[in-house]
Amino acid sequence: MKSSNYKQRTVGDRTLRPETLMMGFGYSPALSEGALKPPVFLTSTFVFETAQQGKDQFDLTSGRRQARDGEQAGLVYSRFNNPNFEILEDRVAVWDDAERGAVFASGMAAIATTLLTFCKPGDVVLHSRPLYGGTETLIRNTLSAFGIGSAGFTDGTDPEHVEAAAHAAMEQGTVSVLFAETPANPTGGLIDLKVLSDVADLVGTRQGKRPLVIVDNTLLGPMFQQPLRHGADLAVYSLTKYAGGHSDLIAGGVTGSAEHVGRIVQTRSALGTQLDPNTCWMLLRSLETLQIRAERAAANARRLAEFLRDHDKITQVDYLGFLTADDPRKAVFDRQSTSPGSTFSFYVKGGEPEAFAFLDRLQLCKLAVSLGGTETLICHPASTTHSGVPAPLREEIGLTDSLVRISVGIENVDDLIADLTQALDF
Ligand code: PLP
Repeated sequence: MKSSNYKQRTVGDRTLRPETLMMGFGYSPALSEGALKPPVFLTSTFVFETAQQGKDQFDLTSGRRQARDGEQAGLVYSRFNNPNFEILEDRVAVWDDAERGAVFASGMAAIATTLLTFCKPGDVVLHSRPLYGGTETLIRNTLSAFGIGSAGFTDGTDPEHVEAAAHAAMEQGTVSVLFAETPANPTGGLIDLKVLSDVADLVGTRQGKRPLVIVDNTLLGPMFQQPLRHGADLAVYSLTKYAGGHSDLIAGGVTGSAEHVGRIVQTRSALGTQLDPNTCWMLLRSLETLQIRAERAAANARRLAEFLRDHDKITQVDYLGFLTADDPRKAVFDRQSTSPGSTFSFYVKGGEPEAFAFLDRLQLCKLAVSLGGTETLICHPASTTHSGVPAPLREEIGLTDSLVRISVGIENVDDLIADLTQALDF
């Protein structure tokens, strides 16, 4: 592919796959002395050729005027844009086949910037439960202090349950956002995105303004689930997880229509929640191997889930690959996702003492929160990531003291099984 065709997506009549486009899409070597890989643009600001050009660019990036036909936003200042995050944003959008992507300093920065763009005082966020603890805290504590209310629903496969929650939310104010995390972390609960977008239509008819459907797709990632194809308006990501994939960076992303993402970018410029060029560069490198990492981790996860299911010290394994036809989540899973991914939960026989005994004996799997890295991480959500979730809700969703979450890495799977085997011998 010629460097002038750096946004080419097809060869002949074939549309190129994201894993192919990750090697070069959005970057023109001709603009960087022919360098095969993009340099890191460590610059806070960009030089204008003339004062008029400066004025034009500023008016465009700050949203005071619309782009003229074919005009691209030029580079102004690294809080607004920078070559590294422009390339990264193009590639993040490729995974979801979205019109536009945007990247942020963390997954929480992406979620907070997005919600602050579309919610104002008096509005209500209707959301699935459980949510990642940080998102729950953002909605319950931070946004509520700005007069933005919230209401939750737990069974995202039951239209009547979600509709009832929507009616309760509309009693509180204008529902501006339906926010869902699917699969839920750490329970694997699924939200039917068709139900969610139908409820958004219903709320829109009642209110006269349709709420946006926003899906946190961190757990499966765009390799295995593409919410925009199933009625979501925006997908949000902790890129810290599978996209980064090496447990060595913090970043977030959003994909969706040019109009919605453009509005979020305006908020990002105001808040300063953009991503730095070094981390963008690391993510560009990581995205080149995302597909193979994800596939290998998913294959390892299936083997571990099967091993754990057959072990007498394990009472239950919540692995989406084990869903049976009589489970209402099965049809939703088959429609929305192409793989169970590599993060799942299981229950150790007993309670916290037995779960801790097992965790403390592990030699290879690392005891840490986070997920989606090359190495296997394991944690006890009830006492760590989800300790802030009120006890009755934890009980309701099965987040008990014997629950352990594992994010399976890309190690040799028999080595991982050897570690689990010896750790369960307590
Ligand atoms: N969403 C989900 C599902 C997560 O698991 C996390 C982090 O664990 C986040 C969002 C927040 O991402 P970050 O830690 O990159 O801010």
